[in-house]
Amino acid sequence: MGNCLPWFAAAGKVVLGPSRRRSDPVDRRRCSWLLSAALAIGVLGGLPATGQGHSFYHENVLGTSLELHVDSPSLETDREAEAAVLAEIARLARVLSTYSDASEFSRLLSGEKTPRKASRELVEVLRACDHWKAVSGGAFNPAAEVFGRLWSQSAKQNRLPTETELADAVRRVGQSLWEIDASGETITRRADLPLSLNALAKGYIIDRACRAALANTPGVTGLLLDIGGDLCVYGDAEKAIGIADPWSPAENAPPLCCVEIRNGAVATSGNYERGFEIHGAHYSHIIDPRTGKPVERIVSATVIAPEAAKADALATILNVLEPSEGVALVDRLEGTECLIVTRDGAVQKSSGWDKFVIPEGELLALAEAGFAEPGQEAPGTSATLVRFQEPAEGSQEAAAGQQAEAPPEPAEPFPWGHEYEVVVELQLRSGGGWRYARPYVAVWMEDAKGRPLRTIALWGRDYQWLPYLRRWYYLHGRDRRMVYAVSRASRPPGRYRIVWDGRANDGSYVPTGQYIVNIEASREHGSYQLTRQMIEIGSEPFAFETKGNYEVPRASIEYRPKKSLEEQRKGPGT
Ligand code: ADP
Ligand code: MG
Repeated sequence: MGNCLPWFAAAGKVVLGPSRRRSDPVDRRRCSWLLSAALAIGVLGGLPATGQGHSFYHENVLGTSLELHVDSPSLETDREAEAAVLAEIARLARVLSTYSDASEFSRLLSGEKTPRKASRELVEVLRACDHWKAVSGGAFNPAAEVFGRLWSQSAKQNRLPTETELADAVRRVGQSLWEIDASGETITRRADLPLSLNALAKGYIIDRACRAALANTPGVTGLLLDIGGDLCVYGDAEKAIGIADPWSPAENAPPLCCVEIRNGAVATSGNYERGFEIHGAHYSHIIDPRTGKPVERIVSATVIAPEAAKADALATILNVLEPSEGVALVDRLEGTECLIVTRDGAVQKSSGWDKFVIPEGELLALAEAGFAEPGQEAPGTSATLVRFQEPAEGSQEAAAGQQAEAPPEPAEPFPWGHEYEVVVELQLRSGGGWRYARPYVAVWMEDAKGRPLRTIALWGRDYQWLPYLRRWYYLHGRDRRMVYAVSRASRPPGRYRIVWDGRANDGSYVPTGQYIVNIEASREHGSYQLTRQMIEIGSEPFAFETKGNYEVPRASIEYRPKKSLEEQRKGPGT
């Protein structure tokens, strides 16, 4: 049982909690029975101090954020695995990056059109691109970068590309891009086009970095590596992964659903984090190479596959194909499942998707079981964004374990949370290169007298460090109920959007009046900062930037009417 309680991660979002050693993913009833047994042993009998695992966070890795959870008998081994993962990512970025002119791929693009000796990794990635371009009937194409530049240029001028520009780009993108010799040793560039490996390289790097850490760090039993919402779970580990809701992509929003992954990968691509703004309308960063136009119909596609490279490529492809074509493609592929959300709110799934889904009741039990009492190290909980269980409306039980001495005032004169929301957007410091580790951050609400009302987000590394978030820990340290990691469309590094829905910890809506937004950041053996910002909630919406500090250079607070589903569907991520 040594390593029986690792964490839980969520695709689109991840939940921390226990896992099982072996199970037949097809037999859900047997799975839940085993799960309950593992929980009972974990909770009642205690576990040996092995396999507890640690989590590591870094910003600005491959243009987004990285979260790594390692299971091993010691912190030292966990740190070695972290170093192995980061070293392999850096090595592969030097091969595949299009952001650096010095990478092997960039040099291929700027060099002569003659055979050029190439690394095994570049050949593998370019062959994978050829494969997915063929399998998807041209929906996947590294030359989509041509359109990316055209749309980005046009967006700067706040105009749509002209039909002539689009037709010209479609013609250029149809060219042969490169040729790989039969022995796989040389690559010859064929076209004079900007190309990008972005839709697949991140997944490839995730796979390789995990494999490198597992192979080179004896003692590591399981790994979860999440880069910008694409993730894999390898080794003897099983994780619950939440799938981000494209209509509600805030970090602390509940996921669409949670799936359980063992030795596999999950990737999500969607239009809600990145894209182009023209005349106030949002256009996806994923472009259909057959028309040159940003995809419109699909807002999010999630793929489960045996490897992250495959999941990543397919998640992009499924944004481009018609949903029925995408599902048919995935149903033809071994060990691969998908969930597609379209703009009209409809959800389509491959035939085996539901076998991976964790029923909600089971999920809550797992999340609860993963936590230790304050002051103790939690068995197997180590990661990530702690996502608080949504309190049932008016539920007193939800308040148990809180130190909220102040019961919320009666909801007079205006329980605004039914119609309004407070959105807090944080920019964490992103300088210092991608080896920069993220601090612990807590965001919570207090009433005007400084009495705690509700924690809305918490990023922590390991529970023993949470007391360094001094004020949060003093006020809320016992409220650790749910921990998620998330698979989602990649957002820019360090930028986090969270929402307060106007409720206190017991689920009741608070009245209009004055509240304090608290943002606390603390770094292991490093800096400590607390920002407390009073806001006046009434009937008037407002938005402003708060004074930044070293760890959180920028934070904005907005009080606004909740968007109707109709409005949300007009534009993502707003
Ligand atoms: P994310 O990393 O945002 O989750 P993806 O894995 O789908 O998203 O990669 C999107 C990137 O892939 C875009 O930013 C662009 O560089 C490139 N791209 C866009 N459309 C295509 C396409 N049809 N085929 C291949 N690459 C694409
Ligand atoms: Mg992709």
